[in-house]
Amino acid sequence: MISLEQASLVYDDRGKLIHACREVSVTVNEGEFLGILGPSGSGKSSLLYLMSGLKVPTTGSVSFNGQNLNTLPDQERATIRLNQFGFVFQYPFLVGYLTALENVCIAYPEGNRQDEALRLLHEVGIGDLAHRMPHELSGGQRQRVCVARALLGSPKVVFADEPTASLDHTAGLQVMETLNTHRGSGALVVVTHDPSMLEAADRIIKIEDGAIQN
Ligand code: ADP
Ligand code: MG
Repeated sequence: MISLEQASLVYDDRGKLIHACREVSVTVNEGEFLGILGPSGSGKSSLLYLMSGLKVPTTGSVSFNGQNLNTLPDQERATIRLNQFGFVFQYPFLVGYLTALENVCIAYPEGNRQDEALRLLHEVGIGDLAHRMPHELSGGQRQRVCVARALLGSPKVVFADEPTASLDHTAGLQVMETLNTHRGSGALVVVTHDPSMLEAADRIIKIEDGAIQN
């Protein structure tokens, strides 16, 4: 489904090159829950950005269903992300002047998905907070709004970057279960430094200094 071949991502930090991903080859298979484990700074977020087409590799390639994401125009890559992928960022991004419910629906301004959005908010345990503004929610509650948003529209692949980092253990497991039960026929890729969040994973890869460990 998603295939990385010798994909590297190098950031240019004012002339200093940072090798965030080093020749990573990995496949995400249809329907699987793939866990990515690694310490802080090991390149987990960067790897997720490559898999999801948010960034293109400096060298190597990334493909989705046989289509090379590197060479697609930005607009077409964005359309794939919108229609096929859901993303939970490490730091919850919510629009400050929209309610929790409106933040979930944000990617589909024209489709009426309020019922589905409300159901998802219930499933992540904050259905009764749908009317609240982001500043009226705790960090963990904001993260759960982001999880509901990523699941709206049943995307083919859900990417989650440390989705449980700002939650206590119980709430973290609840979010993991919601992600897991909603992936349906699609795939779920979760990055974390906490192995206990990956108990339901079909496969776990470990990353260190930008490279996959065998
Ligand atoms: P992790 O998610 O595992 O903490 P990241 O993928 O965020 O790791 O970062 C990997 C490496 O790339 C780190 O050394 C980090 O400082 C660096 N890095 C991340 N983003 C940038 C950027 N935009 N510019 C320069 N360096 C970056
Ligand atoms: Mg990260």
